[in-house]
Amino acid sequence: MLFYAIRGAITADENTPQQILDNTRILLEEIISRNTIEFSEIVSIIFTGTGDLDSIYPAVAARELGMVDVPLFCCQEMYVKGSLEKCIRVMMHIQSAQSRSIEHVYLKKAKALRPDLTKNQIAKMISDQQLTVAIDGPAGAGKSTIAKALSSKLGIVYLDTGAMYRAVAYKMLNANIDFLNTQEIISALSSTELEIKFDGDKQIIILDGQDVTNKIRSPEVSKGASRVGVIPEVRIKLAKIQRDISKSKSLVMDGRDIGTHVLPDATFKFFLTASLDERARRRWEELRIKGYKESIEVVKKDIETRDTTDKSRDFAPLAASEDAIIIDTTCKSIEKVLAEMLGHIESYFINSQEG
Ligand code: C5P
Repeated sequence: MLFYAIRGAITADENTPQQILDNTRILLEEIISRNTIEFSEIVSIIFTGTGDLDSIYPAVAARELGMVDVPLFCCQEMYVKGSLEKCIRVMMHIQSAQSRSIEHVYLKKAKALRPDLTKNQIAKMISDQQLTVAIDGPAGAGKSTIAKALSSKLGIVYLDTGAMYRAVAYKMLNANIDFLNTQEIISALSSTELEIKFDGDKQIIILDGQDVTNKIRSPEVSKGASRVGVIPEVRIKLAKIQRDISKSKSLVMDGRDIGTHVLPDATFKFFLTASLDERARRRWEELRIKGYKESIEVVKKDIETRDTTDKSRDFAPLAASEDAIIIDTTCKSIEKVLAEMLGHIESYFINSQEG
């Protein structure tokens, strides 16, 4: 079990029970939501209030939120000349089975109290070094959602390599090339130009001079991507583009063979999994939003087939690298998975600074 202490503070306008309770509740809720904390993870909370707030104990707000089993303790702060007035502070101790990143919370007039605790520490630490994060896993494990969120949190680029396999499949589909005709695919590949551009946090795929970004998400293209991905010549060409992009920038790259084949020296390697039913449900939901009408059974079958093709191909199959951190996302929210990954990244930087 790992233990963390989260700091927070907020100010009240008046010394009334209502103001103290309302503001304490806002602070607690914010700490809980920003750090995705379950009540069962809270070990204890210490509250302090400045001497000018004495109409009620702030801990009452925690009880009202339902923290009936959490040990709570209130005390009055020592007075220091010039310090903030009507201020409520908390120190929440939490336990966690996995390492996670912590966000301290300062609200209202307390906002500016501890800029050293609240600025994005990881972003600062990575700003002067190249960082590569490989995220592999089967379809529907949550890779692209998590990779997007992680890259935005770290302030680095996200490269979706699946989109590149999709673009090659899209070309073959449009040229009426049979996915079983490997020779014709290889021959069409030699005259294929694939360019990846980044527009803010959006990845744009240019295939033979045309933007195909919004045309490669259909179920036919998904199946085709898995079929062209079996061909070593396709993988070699796409892996070269992927490596070239990673040479010039820090990035999060997701796919099937990133940690094992494309970036074997990635700074971090994660492998995301989830149950087949959950992955099918997620893909079905995604397709439904985009207007596709496939039944969940069909989506599940397609995913199963793609899994088998991806895992059983000879060249760079879908696999977790030996040094990858494996995360099962089945019953976890995006925030929870993200916090877990950020926890690993943060610990790495903190340890490397200390070491
Ligand atoms: O991740 P996404 O579902 O967009 O990928 C589409 C297909 O492309 C996958 O099912 C897989 O067969 C193939 N692919 C691959 N290697 C990658 C990324 C995707 O073989 N690095």
